Amino acid sequence: MTLVPTIDEVGCAAHGDCVDEAPQVFALNGQVAEVIGSGPDDLILAAAKGCPSVAIIVTDSATGDQVYP
Ligand code: SF4
Repeated sequence: MTLVPTIDEVGCAAHGDCVDEAPQVFALNGQVAEVIGSGPDDLILAAAKGCPSVAIIVTDSATGDQVYP
């Protein structure tokens, strides 16, 4: 697991799609999602690409590069 998600709390609209996609990684905390765990890279990326608000930023922890969006 090298991909790490962070939530853009301003952009997050609390749809909950990320929680549905990866409940071990994301949870809703009031009106914003939060990262509660880790998961496989493909799951992190799929959840990020599925976010309607593009509010999940994915970084490669090995290189520090932003992978998505
Ligand atoms: S899918 Fe995106 S907008 Fe919806 S709760 Fe998750 S991070 Fe927030």
